[in-house]
Amino acid sequence: MIYQGVAISNRFEGGRKGIEVEVGLSDVIFNLETEKIRFPIYDLEISLGGASDRLIYFKHPRFPDITFYTTDKKILKDPNLHYHDHAKKSVKDVNKKRVFNWSVFAGIAGFFILIILCLFLFRSQMVRAVANQVPPQWEREVGDQLFDQVTLGHKIVEDSLLIAELTKTMQPLVKAVGDTSFHFKFFIIEDPTLNAFALPGGNIVIHSGLIAKSSSWEELCGVLGHEISHVTERHHIRGLVSNLGIFVVLSAVVGDASALFGTLAQAGGSLSSLMYSREYETEADEKGLEYLLKADINPSGMISFFKKLQKEHPEAKDTEKITEILSTHPATQERIENLTSKTKGIKTKFSVFKNSFDTFKKRLKTDLDKE
Ligand SMILES: [Zn+2]
Repeated sequence: MIYQGVAISNRFEGGRKGIEVEVGLSDVIFNLETEKIRFPIYDLEISLGGASDRLIYFKHPRFPDITFYTTDKKILKDPNLHYHDHAKKSVKDVNKKRVFNWSVFAGIAGFFILIILCLFLFRSQMVRAVANQVPPQWEREVGDQLFDQVTLGHKIVEDSLLIAELTKTMQPLVKAVGDTSFHFKFFIIEDPTLNAFALPGGNIVIHSGLIAKSSSWEELCGVLGHEISHVTERHHIRGLVSNLGIFVVLSAVVGDASALFGTLAQAGGSLSSLMYSREYETEADEKGLEYLLKADINPSGMISFFKKLQKEHPEAKDTEKITEILSTHPATQERIENLTSKTKGIKTKFSVFKNSFDTFKKRLKTDLDKE
């Protein structure tokens, strides 16, 4: 059989020349056009070389000034080479080396594929780990700036007794969080739409329309439990981080957070247009439920309020913009069912609020009607 190859020698112009190689019964014959060079197979030297050991070299002690190579691997299977023990052993060694090279290459490639796979599989864990590096102080500052932005043009309820009553009534829920790095502050703004939202760090904004349409403290607590959970689960910062490139996240995980903070500082202002993912919504529902139970507040209020929202906004979505949390609310059937199944079989007796919700509502209405 004929193989294509290259001869290397000072004999040729440029030091090399394309040739044809033939493996005979006792010689490997290199056809140089002007002459044929025969390397006896019995003491032929075969080796690998070149980039990635892709070239198969043929040398012979009797012809020290000339070397041949081919990239055609089929030559190693040529039966004529296998008749000679010495050549057979050389071929075997060369093949062993090729297998070794291949395993090293496959090992390295596999390692990188595994790393990339891990980056994607554990992306959400990495995002959480990175978010945990961001100090709550930063979130509180951003949250205060955002508060000014999003409440611009709205009347903020200033009746301090009313806000004090709201804050006091929410205390069991806030206590259930346990973590004191968040400073929860409750605000009511005049807006007839059914909405409430949480800003990073703990400012919770409730539209007056949401209170007007709630039937009990339990319903209001249900909504606020969900909102508080967006804060404690750090959904704002996690949302920002997961919008960053995977390599910014990875470098922050391995210790260099400077790129992360630079990007976050720029992105902080655009937080209000950030969307919560479906995953975060479910997480906020479940965590909110956990806080309600811990605070001994009847969780059926959360479910009945979600049903109310679903009725008001039947075109349910899976995600929500952080400041439009309930106005375009995604109280999907699936989320209601999830909460219902999670509350099945639990106790039915819970703490009863001593202060009247109706009186609170009336007082709010009077305050808003004042001007
Ligand atoms: Zn939400």
